[in-house]
Amino acid sequence: MANTLKLLWRYLWAGPNTMLGLAAAAASASLPTLAHGILLCRSNRGFANWFLTRRGYCAITLGHLVLVTSQASPQIMDHEMVHVRQSERWGPLFVPAYLTGMVIARVQGRDPYLDNSFELEARRQDGSSTPQGPVA
Ligand SMILES: [Zn+2]
Repeated sequence: MANTLKLLWRYLWAGPNTMLGLAAAAASASLPTLAHGILLCRSNRGFANWFLTRRGYCAITLGHLVLVTSQASPQIMDHEMVHVRQSERWGPLFVPAYLTGMVIARVQGRDPYLDNSFELEARRQDGSSTPQGPVA
């Protein structure tokens, strides 16, 4: 029972971000599928795909929804699942915290994306050394 409540809480806490993800999926005209406890949305068109690929990114995680573009590598899910756990930890504060991490990196003269503490954690845990995609 306690584990069920913890699981429910993680989904509720990250829920506002997941709602943003559902809006991004709708803007991409792509239906998410349920896989490994998340909603996975593959998009080769639509607003989110255009927005991501225009910036050179291939995926975005919003709560329990991961939107990947056609340019995503198979290993991207390891990276995005770290962002899912971050979103579960930070809940509705995740987006402001992530953006704050970008500002801190920028103020320190570093890359706002690559040196964002959330991205550094994701790259440490996904086993890669290359950036894969942003979260918002
Ligand atoms: Zn990332």
